[in-house]
Amino acid sequence: MTSDLFTLPKTYDFAATEQRIYAWWEENGYFKPSNDPNLPGHNPDIPPYVISIPPPNVTGELHLGHAMFVSMEDLMIRYHRMKGIPTLWVPGTDHAGIATQLQVEKMLLRTEEVTREEIGREKFLEHTWEWKHKFGSLITNQIRRLGASCDWTRERFTLDEGLSKAVREAFVTLYEKGLIYRGPRLINWSPGLKTAVSDLEVEYAEEQGKLYHFKYMLTDGSGNYLPVATTRPETILGDTAVAVHPEDDRYKKYVGKMVLVPILNREIPVVADEYVDREFGTGALKVTPGHDPNDYTIGERHHLPIISVLDKEAKVNENGGPYAGLDRFEARKRLWEDMRIHKLVIKEEPHVHMVPRSQRGGEIVEPMISVQWFVKIESLAEAALGAVKDGRIKIVPDHFEKVYYNWLENIQDWCISRQLWWGHRIPVWHCGTCGGQTVSREDPVKCQHCASEAIEQDPDVLDTWFSSGLWPFSTLGWPDKTPDVGYFYPTSMMETGYDILFFWVARMIMMGMEFTGQPPFHTVYLHGLIRDEHGRKMSKSYGNVIDPLGVMDEMGTDALRFTLLVGSTPGKDMNLSLKKVEANRNFANKIWNATRFVLNAVKALTPQPPLPRGEGE
Ligand SMILES: [Zn+2]
Repeated sequence: MTSDLFTLPKTYDFAATEQRIYAWWEENGYFKPSNDPNLPGHNPDIPPYVISIPPPNVTGELHLGHAMFVSMEDLMIRYHRMKGIPTLWVPGTDHAGIATQLQVEKMLLRTEEVTREEIGREKFLEHTWEWKHKFGSLITNQIRRLGASCDWTRERFTLDEGLSKAVREAFVTLYEKGLIYRGPRLINWSPGLKTAVSDLEVEYAEEQGKLYHFKYMLTDGSGNYLPVATTRPETILGDTAVAVHPEDDRYKKYVGKMVLVPILNREIPVVADEYVDREFGTGALKVTPGHDPNDYTIGERHHLPIISVLDKEAKVNENGGPYAGLDRFEARKRLWEDMRIHKLVIKEEPHVHMVPRSQRGGEIVEPMISVQWFVKIESLAEAALGAVKDGRIKIVPDHFEKVYYNWLENIQDWCISRQLWWGHRIPVWHCGTCGGQTVSREDPVKCQHCASEAIEQDPDVLDTWFSSGLWPFSTLGWPDKTPDVGYFYPTSMMETGYDILFFWVARMIMMGMEFTGQPPFHTVYLHGLIRDEHGRKMSKSYGNVIDPLGVMDEMGTDALRFTLLVGSTPGKDMNLSLKKVEANRNFANKIWNATRFVLNAVKALTPQPPLPRGEGE
């Protein structure tokens, strides 16, 4: 050992060091907390320092976002560990419902040429677990490459047995409190993925479209009409009213009269509503409660019927008359042509409008009525607001507190069901005999209302964020009263990107308050996103994505981590250039060389030990 120190190579050989030393740390248990509550001699009075890792998707491949949170959290963890504080960093992965299911579906299509529907739910899930066992450790090994000093003996997976039990407990508890209900609701439907997607998973972008002006003919035979404009003519098929502003002199004489839905010739009323913007389009608004969120609320105010005209693939359903069976865009074309023939068309004009697209699938999301499961969120949101307002949780940087309040104060009930197979299946059994629901912590064999055995489990699974919302305590063993829950919960720090403040952080706070009565952590630290050196978003289409594995191979993990740490300010995006990483690799070499210099100087100063007697004689 001593002679090694005195003959250090001229530059730091990170490639020969990093993985060797990491393996040595891990094998020797240096990432485990001191004062372990599961071991004798534990002292419960010493406060620990705890971080739960933001669980990467099990399908994930390492990107700079991971590198960022690992650098930050490892810094915090090692700092506290070196101060002698019992320190725990809990690692794990997320089952990532849609992402994983899509990946396995693609693989099956490629390798066995079968679809998930063809092999059925059970077989498909077997394949997915197989896939998980094969590839699930890829991302955790890449996290290791970053030097993350997590306690891997405590690694968790959102679908493992313990966490599934936690999810079941949480669902049943909420259900028993009357906070879970099933109902029709206008949701964002992704026709490509055939599932509901949350508001947060929809991206709006300005796109060039058209504004279609047409006539809503009065039924009184006068030949009078209301001019109406829309960007989505196919939704005309689901119109249940035309709304005008109550003080609009052009139209108020028509309020209470009936008009005819083009081509279908269904009669619908003209209603007065202050929501209508007199300046927009023609000032008369078609109301489609089944396919537009604003129209949905107008519909509620006027007790309008809700007509859904699209099916799950976004094809026109039986309510669309002659257009039934057509794809939504084809139906748009045909209906418009037919309306032109019937002289109901006024004009078309180019129009830039906001188009909602699915973040994951990319296709246009369709607001649709569908039966879904919801969590009544008001009481949970109130508790989560309180925890930040009274300072029990601090958000860094603090300007995000306002954003957080604003979101929680305007929050809507949480749609928790997804039409997927990979995930926590909703623990509700529907009775074929009496129609009742049985909800239970153990899988039931008969209906709890009529004792019929003709019960079937709800086919939907829970939103992935339902299980990750429980993460800070489910990973420690909750709902069981384990020594880990007792000692390490509430955790200390939640460090993550500001882009998932609502997706994840707010939900952890709501769930933590609801199920444990305590804030799940005392501090939320939000880091920014990493952009390229010119400040552009990194994306495959720009070709400017930096692969952290390549950077680490070339310049070392320390150089990358140091660059991310010194170059970032909480809550602010940072621009990353490889030149900075290179400069920091050189900086690491400077420290190395300074060390060589000191060691050599020490060697020169150290008196040589006297030769033992008898030697050299
Ligand atoms: Zn029953």
